[in-house]
Amino acid sequence: VVDVATAHVDGPFTYTTGGSAPALGARVRVPFGGRLVGGWVVSDPAPAQPDASLKAIVDVEDESPRFDAEAVHLAAWLRGRYACTFREALASVAPRGAAMSARSRFAFPTAPDASGATADALFGAFGARPFTPIAAVRALKRAGLRMSAQRAQAELARAVRLGTLQRVQEREKAKRARTTSSEMCLVLADAALAKGAGQRRLAAALGEHDGKLPSRQACKLAAVGSDVIRRATKAGVIRQEPLAQAAATAGTIAGRRPSMTATAEQRRAIETLDAAMKKGPVVALLHGVTGSGKTFVYSRLIDRLRRRGGRAIVLVPEIALTPQTSARFIAIFGERVGVLHSGLSDGERARVWNQAAAGDLDVVVGARSAVFAPLPKLALIVVDEEHEPSYKQDVAPRYDAAAVARERMARSGGAVILGSATPSLESYQEAISGGIAYVRMSQRATSAPMPPVQIVDMTAEKSMRGRQAVGPALVERMDAALKRGQKVILFVNRRGYAGLLLCRACGFAPRCRRCAISLVLHSADGSLRCHVCGDAFKVPNACPKCRSLDLLPYGFGTQRVEETIGELFPAAKIIRMDADTTTGRGAHGRLLHSFGAEGDVLIGTQMIAKGLDYPSVTVVGVVSADVDLNRPDFRAAERTFSLLTQVAGRAGRAAPGSNVVVQTYSPDHYAVRLAAAHDYETFARKELALRRELRYPPFGRLAYIGLAGVDASAVGKVANMVAEELRANARGVETLGPAPDPLPKARGEYRMRIALKSESEADLLDACRSAQRMRRDPDVRMHVVVDPR
Ligand SMILES: [Zn+2]
Ligand SMILES: [Zn+2]
Repeated sequence: VVDVATAHVDGPFTYTTGGSAPALGARVRVPFGGRLVGGWVVSDPAPAQPDASLKAIVDVEDESPRFDAEAVHLAAWLRGRYACTFREALASVAPRGAAMSARSRFAFPTAPDASGATADALFGAFGARPFTPIAAVRALKRAGLRMSAQRAQAELARAVRLGTLQRVQEREKAKRARTTSSEMCLVLADAALAKGAGQRRLAAALGEHDGKLPSRQACKLAAVGSDVIRRATKAGVIRQEPLAQAAATAGTIAGRRPSMTATAEQRRAIETLDAAMKKGPVVALLHGVTGSGKTFVYSRLIDRLRRRGGRAIVLVPEIALTPQTSARFIAIFGERVGVLHSGLSDGERARVWNQAAAGDLDVVVGARSAVFAPLPKLALIVVDEEHEPSYKQDVAPRYDAAAVARERMARSGGAVILGSATPSLESYQEAISGGIAYVRMSQRATSAPMPPVQIVDMTAEKSMRGRQAVGPALVERMDAALKRGQKVILFVNRRGYAGLLLCRACGFAPRCRRCAISLVLHSADGSLRCHVCGDAFKVPNACPKCRSLDLLPYGFGTQRVEETIGELFPAAKIIRMDADTTTGRGAHGRLLHSFGAEGDVLIGTQMIAKGLDYPSVTVVGVVSADVDLNRPDFRAAERTFSLLTQVAGRAGRAAPGSNVVVQTYSPDHYAVRLAAAHDYETFARKELALRRELRYPPFGRLAYIGLAGVDASAVGKVANMVAEELRANARGVETLGPAPDPLPKARGEYRMRIALKSESEADLLDACRSAQRMRRDPDVRMHVVVDPR
């Protein structure tokens, strides 16, 4: 599989071994389209008929393989299932850290002995010092031996095979590992400003990766150098930021130790799952209410598994957001646990990866990509909070980690446990129809009851009218709890101060000129900021449209709620946790630690909804339950139900007498009512009936074809062409759209979307593949999302 980043080059290709016989998983150099490129060997060499048209592998870059046959199978499966290229799939299976491309360097171990003019000239120039192929070409030229880089590379490779020359890589690897942690990140600001082919390639590469890439990777993908980066930064096409180091150091989080004895319900779950695992391959849904102790069940199962010589992977939605879960595994399994998360440098990631492959780890805990960790004797993959959308990768290959886990374990005969308090409707439907095993835990481990949930109708709270974030009911509950010395959690769905700045005279609200969304008011520096592209402006004194001075902040963000609560409860110690307060390394951990130790009120976004377990939290408030409900997405109700359930689950985990208050403008919506009643089953029945009628998942398969580009009419034209051809030719597939993407413009690019629905996976994938093959305007990018979450 060649390392060429274009969609229509999608191997594998066949080469002769050229006498070197590299192992499966080795990195090689091969001639391809008139030049030499890198590539990976994805099969063992096999005898073949002599065929003059086959080219030979020129060089083997590393002797030790970077992946095995299982990984190749998994890559091939990813490619088939998610309509990506083999190369993209391999990059996930053997990720950057593990698959570091070693820039070859060579050195003579001893003086060459009658090895020809080339070797003599090189030894004359370098002696025992290491040199690169480029330096070799220059040295040969000085010695009067002109040859192409290709030819020189082939000569060097031959000398290595003969033993005259040695390959040196170690120093280069160590240097790379050190430099990555201080690397910069390139962020796409406005693709429309890109001038020249280089800047446009750079913008497109960033656009394909959700607007953000480490700079070295961006340069490689776009094939541009530092001059283009400099000019693009100056022109405002991109911005440079230090690479995010948001990961919490899990060890510093004070979490409650799991109880040492299992409840009757937990014991039953452990025995049932353990018996199933001993029998052979199994997929099970562990459906347990918040606080039922799912993590405890996982850890007991892994403990038993370990004694039988098996190993396990535990997937969590995002390490930084579930620090207590990872901390527990580390507390139980000690140094036999490896943690993989997005804040690791390439070198750190490679170290964990190699430890796993060598059998030095029994458990790997990590986010999405840890599902590929190369553990020998892997017998269990746990997908905790399996309903979380973050298990779906949003850049190619757009895989779903739960589906990958199932594929991996189906082949090796291991088990997959999907755990959740609010299972995805796909998993639940499969469980109740007998497709996968189903284990229910309906009691909290502490035997504390589920907290009562009070719904507050915001339309009825006349005094509020967009001026007060928390109504009287919530204030009263908070007051009582704080007086008793208990803690409060407030969930707010937006960071910043206010959702928008509204002119009361003419109704104008400033929007981002690159993205089709309103700018969010931030109080800390008096700025208006775009939450998509990050652009920031000073707050204007007067309305830019009518010059009126009557500008009103509208809606509530975390900063405004913090201000209000500070005025209402001046003695309370308030901790705010959102993307603005958690940028530094370990910031999550520090804030949570401080809340546990001395905080009274924790105000935060999504990131406080999951996994936090503080026994003295007795009041949880949801400032507004509506934002998710209004999203144009068939999963809007499911997301709202699950978020409200998760947030409510933070309350009263140890003590009775806790309360949850949900403020909403849609008090009668079934997702809100049923979440308040802790009634998952009724919600699922109702929602599944709707999905069945519309043939949405789990009753039909779905794929999106996304199109993006700086020229709105070109994007529209391509979208119409693709949709028309699919409607005319795709069998067994219903084509919907094109329609503007839910985010119709982002970072200067216009976005359209075509939805495909089908009952058959094969038909759906055929349609996606045929869309990818259609000839189209090269300035319009296409991406395919199979099974969007
Ligand atoms: Zn105005
Ligand atoms: Zn913007």
